[in-house]
Amino acid sequence: MSDVGIEPTYIGKNKSLVFVVPKELFSMSAGPPEVIDRETAKIFSKYMRGTFKGFQNSRKTKYGNENNTKTKVSSDFWEKFENKAKNLNVDFISYIPINENFIFKDLKVYGKNGIILGMEMKWDDGIETAPSANCEIEVFRVYKLLGDITIVLTEFLKDQGYKSEAHHPFGGKLLYGPHVVAAGLGILGRSGLIITPEFGPRQRWSMITTDVDIPESSKQNFDELEEFCKNCGLCVKNCKGGAIYKEPIEKDSGIFTHIDRSKCINSLLKNNYCSYCLKICPPGIPSKNLRDLKK
Ligand code: SF4
Ligand code: SF4
Repeated sequence: MSDVGIEPTYIGKNKSLVFVVPKELFSMSAGPPEVIDRETAKIFSKYMRGTFKGFQNSRKTKYGNENNTKTKVSSDFWEKFENKAKNLNVDFISYIPINENFIFKDLKVYGKNGIILGMEMKWDDGIETAPSANCEIEVFRVYKLLGDITIVLTEFLKDQGYKSEAHHPFGGKLLYGPHVVAAGLGILGRSGLIITPEFGPRQRWSMITTDVDIPESSKQNFDELEEFCKNCGLCVKNCKGGAIYKEPIEKDSGIFTHIDRSKCINSLLKNNYCSYCLKICPPGIPSKNLRDLKK
C-alpha cells in the first residue's frame, strides 16, 4: 500500500523522462530594480509565489482519495463539468486515456484517464511585449490561475467520489504535449510548443488524472496548420538562446526533443523569462492567425 492509502495507477518507468524543475527558476525576478517599478515587481512576485504554492498544493491532491471508487457518470455530467470549467475561464477541455510512456520516471500517478485543460496567455500588453516584465507577468498569471482552477476541478471530482489528482501547468508528473495532441487540441510545433488554431503557442496546459469514465475527444483537421509550421521556421531562426533544433532529436525512448533545455533556461534567466517563441509564432499573432484571417 502506498503512502496515500491507495495504490497508484501508474509508476513512471521511462528512463529518459526524469522530472527536474531547474532551481534557478524559483529565484527569478521581473528584472533589475533600475528598470522595474515597485508595483510591477509586486504583481510579478504575487503570481510567481502563487504559482509555486499551487505547484506544491497540486502534489497534495492525491490525498483524500481513499474512498473514491466511482467511475460511472450521469448523462449530463460532462456538460455540467465543462460549464463549470468555462465559467472559471478555461479555454480548452479534452479527454484522453493516460499514455504510460509519458509519465516521468518513478513518479506515481493516480487515475487512468486524463482531462486536459488549457488557458490562453493574452497577446495585448503581455506576450506582445516579450521579452519583458509584462510578458513574464502574463506567463505567471496564467500558470497561477490555471493551476488554481485545476485544483478546484480536481477537488470537485474527488467530492463526487472519483479518484483524481491535479497536475499543475508549471510541472506535472507526465508530459502534457503528447496527451494534448492525442486529445485533438493542437499540433506539436517546430518550437516544441503545442500550436492551436485558436492561439498558436499562447496557452498553458494542465491535466487531471482520474478514474472517472471520460467521453471521446473530438478530432479537428490540422493539415493547414501542420503545413504552415513545416514551411515557417521563424522560431528556429529567431530563438533568443539559439536553443531550438532545426530538426528535433529523437531520444532512446522514442520521444522527440525540440529544445536544448539548458540553452533555453540560460536565455529565460537573462531575458525576463524570454518567451520570444510565444511572440514570434504567426498562428499566435492576432493579425496573422490563420483561422481569423478566413473570417
Ligand atoms: S524561451 Fe527564448 S530561448 Fe527558449 S526556446 Fe523560446 S525563444 Fe528560445
Ligand atoms: S514560429 Fe513557425 S515554425 Fe515555429 S512553431 Fe510557430 S509556426 Fe511553427
